[in-house]
Amino acid sequence: MRRTMSCGALRAEHAGRTVTLAGWVNRRRDLGGLIFLDLRDHGGMSQVVALPEHADVLKVAERVRSEFVLEVHGHVRLRPEAQRSERLATGDVELVADAITVLSEADTPPFPIDGSVDASDVNEDLRLRHRYLDLRRSAALAPLRLRHRVTKAIWDYLDEAGFLHVETPLLTRSTPEGARDYVVPARGRPGHVYALPQSPQLFKQMLMVGGVDRYFQIARCFRDEDLRADRQPDFTQLDLEMAFVEVDDVLTLNESLMAHVVHLATGSAPATPFPRLSYRDAMERFGSDKPDVRFGLELTDLDDTFAATDVRALRGVLDAGGVVRALRVPVEHAGSVSRKDIEALEAHAKRYGAHGLAWLRRGEDGFSGPLAKALSDDERAALTALSSAVGDLWLLVAGPWETACTALGAVRLRLREHLDLPLAAGHAFVWVLDFPLFERDGEGGWTSMHHPFTRPHDDDLPLLERDPGAVRAQAYDLVMNGFEIGGGSIRIHRSDVQERVFTVLGMSTEEARSRFGFFLDALRYGTPPHGGIAWGLDRLVMLLAGARSLREVIAFPKNQRGADPLTDAPAPADAAQWAELGLAVVAARDTDDGVSVDLEVS
Ligand code: ASP
Repeated sequence: MRRTMSCGALRAEHAGRTVTLAGWVNRRRDLGGLIFLDLRDHGGMSQVVALPEHADVLKVAERVRSEFVLEVHGHVRLRPEAQRSERLATGDVELVADAITVLSEADTPPFPIDGSVDASDVNEDLRLRHRYLDLRRSAALAPLRLRHRVTKAIWDYLDEAGFLHVETPLLTRSTPEGARDYVVPARGRPGHVYALPQSPQLFKQMLMVGGVDRYFQIARCFRDEDLRADRQPDFTQLDLEMAFVEVDDVLTLNESLMAHVVHLATGSAPATPFPRLSYRDAMERFGSDKPDVRFGLELTDLDDTFAATDVRALRGVLDAGGVVRALRVPVEHAGSVSRKDIEALEAHAKRYGAHGLAWLRRGEDGFSGPLAKALSDDERAALTALSSAVGDLWLLVAGPWETACTALGAVRLRLREHLDLPLAAGHAFVWVLDFPLFERDGEGGWTSMHHPFTRPHDDDLPLLERDPGAVRAQAYDLVMNGFEIGGGSIRIHRSDVQERVFTVLGMSTEEARSRFGFFLDALRYGTPPHGGIAWGLDRLVMLLAGARSLREVIAFPKNQRGADPLTDAPAPADAAQWAELGLAVVAARDTDDGVSVDLEVS
């Protein structure tokens, strides 16, 4: 071994001992004839001192620079009282060097990694281009350590619970999860492609057909979708599936698994069982299917209040089948919401489809605000009864149910930030259940709200063709602090039901067979009822680490444009590669960066 201990391990009890440390020079201080080196490795940092009486050692120390890799042999001594440092775990001692070997020299790093500059002040692409340097910072490495602990906790728990870890293929057929596929051209079969899996969904279901009983995988998934939100084109799921289960079984297992993981990661476990909300209630109360339940400010249903209204804007919406929903900002906070703030909130609501955000302020003698004059006595009385006190502020959205709820849900989150309302301590988990099976696809047809393999509620099976919008799914989402961190369902295990669902989705029998024939066949050979879930592992670790972006919890992440500044992927293919694949680029088009490029036809 080139070292006897880590640079972070030196303590007062080692004083007098001879040790060898190895690591990177974090900083060098030359006091003229006396040189201090802070030596850093994965475990921490120790102060090395080269004394004037060791001329040869001093000579080496004189030429070392930041990030040189050294092996230092010496003896540990207590620092003089005045020079002890509480900032460093090793701050009571220093290593007096008897010999310094330069194992490796280093160019000047493109950004300081000695802690003198805050990492967030360094251009992120520059850090990602030199991610191996960025990772030398303990703050950059910490989320990866946490990730390791989380993954290990998952492995241990599921192993104990009888799950089998199985790897499923990466070069495969399309698995629809609502995104575009990344495709890989097959060299041996020109015109044919593999798809990278959006999830292991079909394989895990076929493992259930195969009698595996309980499967899990720390699975890499690939989705080509809008990257503006904090997303990565390749990401990791904890994917699991269980045979002979119902919704409750999956939820219960996931609650104890999550409690185990959070306990190991943070030292305290969330209470189980997790609260459950129906999709409808989550939308009605929080304006979101991934509600942050760590604070109140819930929505109010004003449909009854305005049922007979003459307020024109509201009447029109209600007659068209829409709703009126509102947020009541109680008097103790209402004073902090100015007209200007309301305008900003309105602009925010509009981004979520609302036509506007009306407001009413309750004063000593009635209500003020744009709608106030048009209110009837009954409406005034009803709103007064719903208010807590004089000074309350009402923010209203009228529109189709989903739009009104969603827009107010977005305003609710904004308001919390604006008012700096406290969040309940700890991590808040909620299950959201009873999603609709289908939603409108914008072209008059239906699309799956989760994916097409989700089982309808048994009671709703007769509605499949008659009223698809009313069919509830046996699906569930796991929400943590207002982020969706998991989603799954009980699956369709009968090929006839699966085919009916494909039909509602507008897929002809031929199309269903050509895309999923292999899977429909599998369902015909005795399929156990089964269900499962997938967790977004990156996002879970991000929340547990208190990190601000997924990029912090991934060793080599892509940037927000889906590119990797380190390897410069994606990279152009050369003519020989195109030829080998039997492909040609035939047209120029706008790139994701909005640049139009002319590509050569090979
Ligand atoms: N395959 C689903 C997904 O990736 C999860 C599941 O239904 O288990 O979201």
